[in-house]
Amino acid sequence: MQFTDLGLAAPILRAIEAQGYTTPTPIQQQAIPVVLAGRDLMACAQTGTGKTAGFTLPILHLLSQKLGAAEKSPLSKSLKRPRALILTPTRELAAQVEESVRTYGAHLPLKSLAMFGGVGMNPQIQALRNGIDILVACPGRLLDHVQQRTVDLSGVEILVLDEADRMLDMGFIRDIRKIMALLPPAGTRQNLLFSATFSDEIKELARGFLHNPESVEV
Ligand code: AMP
Repeated sequence: MQFTDLGLAAPILRAIEAQGYTTPTPIQQQAIPVVLAGRDLMACAQTGTGKTAGFTLPILHLLSQKLGAAEKSPLSKSLKRPRALILTPTRELAAQVEESVRTYGAHLPLKSLAMFGGVGMNPQIQALRNGIDILVACPGRLLDHVQQRTVDLSGVEILVLDEADRMLDMGFIRDIRKIMALLPPAGTRQNLLFSATFSDEIKELARGFLHNPESVEV
């Protein structure tokens, strides 16, 4: 299988080609069609398998194909709302995932932001004001923005929990639940969960927020 067989938009294929990649990895071959079909996904994959592109590529495709609420209604105040939210356990991972979004989305008019603590709020607030389509965030700093009302999560169409097992290990479960409560109702958004392991705790988390998910494992 080649990347060109997956049905991704031409600007995304150009960006993949520029990276020198021709063949999707096994997790990409399995996950990308599921996400493109609009299904929820539970994916068991370790770092190094290419899992990041497994969700960033189809998310970029879906968002580039479908107008956001803002474009549909230019006068709407919802202009700045993120359409995809990717939660990660660490700053390093948030930065890395956002870099991947930037790389593969280089030829698309979609804006992204990596949001994490330990740096000033103001540059993040400014970026949010300018409009962000894809927000890659650590839970704690995202909730700081929620509290200050500098982010509006009511337009999120796709939610990703990346390295969900590490998020649980690091004690983020309550933060994750708080964030989920701020998103559009379950059933009106697409949910993806990536985890290196599938403990009972992960399965319970998945049961609570995935709807009729497709499971993939590598
Ligand atoms: P990840 O598991 O997402 O951290 O990705 C591991 C590494 O594999 C990253 O450096 C990616 O740039 C690279 N990579 C992702 N997809 C492919 C692919 N289809 N072919 C070759 N390398 C890839």
